Parts: sequence; C-alpha cells; structure tokens
Amino acid sequence: MTKILAISNQKGGVGKTTTAVNLSTALGLKGKKVLLVDLDPQGNATSSSGLEKTKLKSTVYDLLINDADIKEVVKKGKYYDVVPANQHLAGAEIEMIQIKQREVLLKNQLKIIQQDYDYILLDCPPSLGLITLNGLTAATSVLIPMQCEYFALEGLTDLVNTIKKIKTNMNKEIQIEGLLRTIYDRRNTLSKEVSDQLSTYFPNKVYKTIVPRNVRVAEAPSHGLSAIQFDKHSKGSKAYLELADEIIKKEANNG
Ligand code: ADP
Ligand code: MG
Repeated sequence: MTKILAISNQKGGVGKTTTAVNLSTALGLKGKKVLLVDLDPQGNATSSSGLEKTKLKSTVYDLLINDADIKEVVKKGKYYDVVPANQHLAGAEIEMIQIKQREVLLKNQLKIIQQDYDYILLDCPPSLGLITLNGLTAATSVLIPMQCEYFALEGLTDLVNTIKKIKTNMNKEIQIEGLLRTIYDRRNTLSKEVSDQLSTYFPNKVYKTIVPRNVRVAEAPSHGLSAIQFDKHSKGSKAYLELADEIIKKEANNG
C-alpha cells in the first residue's frame, strides 16, 4: 500500500522542506517509487528539486483549484517525481473557500496516481490552514520535523490537537509516523533537554536518527539539489539515508 507522509509543523524553518527533499532522494536511491508534492507557495521543495519555479506550465495550484489532470502536473525526476508549487498557490486558500469538499481536493487527486508510488511525501506550509488540512486529510501518517528549541513543545501540542481533530472528523486512518530531530546541535544543552522531553512525552515516536546541523545541507538547495545529491558523504546526507532505512524497516515490521 502507498504510504502518504505529510511532513508538517506549523513552525517555519524547522527543516520540513529539507526533510521532504532528502527523504525523497534517499527513498528513491533505495529503489522506492516516490512522489514529492510541494504544498508551500514558497516552492522551496520545487527549486531544491532542480525545477524552475517561474517556468512551470502547471502546478499544485491547478490541481487543487482548476481540477487539472495530475498526470500532466507531475514532473518526472531521476530519484523521485514532483508535483511542483510556486507563488500561485498563495491565493489558493481564499479561492478554496468557494469550493465544496475543499478539504479533500488533494486526496481525490492523489487517488488517481497513488498506485504508481510506494511513498508520497507532502511538504506542508508553515501554517495549519486549508492547504495543510488538505495534506493531513490525504495523508496516512505525519512526520513532524522538530528543532529542539524552547518553544518547540508548545507548537507540537497545537499540531497534535489538530491531528486529533482530523482523525475524528476527516481521516480515521491518520497517525503520527514520527518526530524527527533536525538541525540538531549536540553542543547545545537546551537541545539535549528538549530532546529528552520529546522522548518522555512521545515514547516510540521519536526517530533514532538525528539530523545534525550541517553546512552542506544548507548549501545544497542553491544548486537545485538535495544534500544527498550534492554531497552524499556529508553528515546531514548520511542522517537522511539512515532515516529512510528506519522508515522502511518500521514499515516492514508493521506489516
Ligand atoms: P521549513 O521547510 O520547515 O521552513 P527548511 O527545510 O526550509 O525548513 O529549513 C530552514 C533553513 O534551514 C533552510 O535554509 C535550510 O537550508 C536550513 N537547514 C535545514 N536543515 C539543516 C541542517 N540539518 N543543517 C543546516 N541547515 C539546515
Ligand atoms: Mg518549507
């Protein structure tokens, strides 16, 4: 069965897009068929995948608002395919208000092609608005990247409550896949404290893999590449390859 992973956290700058792009590459390298859906008007996952945001004929906006044919929106790539996004998506939430069943637009589109993929990764925007709602309604589970900082746990409570509401009302299937510690600085004692609290509150949900703060990871997007494509041997790349193993293994154990 296709696993649809929403990569979500309403906080910006916690490593959602970096995780989406690198996990897509890692799973692709390991022989999985992967589709990455960019749900952020900033289109960072799109440009990190080597696509030019301004030159796209159709994007996820057309998929959601104009009922475009998803097969024509998908861009084929070496390790993974992409449903791209650009600034057109910024107006979509307002336009969606007019549409009936506005929370299942993405889910219905993905149904058409999901059998072609092992994993579909959704790079959610930094908010809990209608676009994220579409992502969480379509998803089988949620991967939450977290930077282990002071307010991280507070934000997590809001996200967990949103997921609970979605489980009750829209998507019985949804569960938290895992919490991923990102941009991690081992020298910082606060990071260690927050990280320990995470493991206490969410036992069995925190990935063993920790993504360290790593300059190669930050450099890669300006080359239109994932960190793994840019420098496979960097610490950041190794972490994302390990994460892919952890996710594949977990799935094998579950069924
Ligand atoms: P989000 O999608 O949650 O807003 P991003 O993935 O765009 O977060 O990451 C925010 C910034 O941090 C980007 O500039 C990105 O390149 C950088 N970054 C992400 N992960 C790492 C890492 N492990 N080490 C160093 N920089 C990182
Ligand atoms: Mg992002």
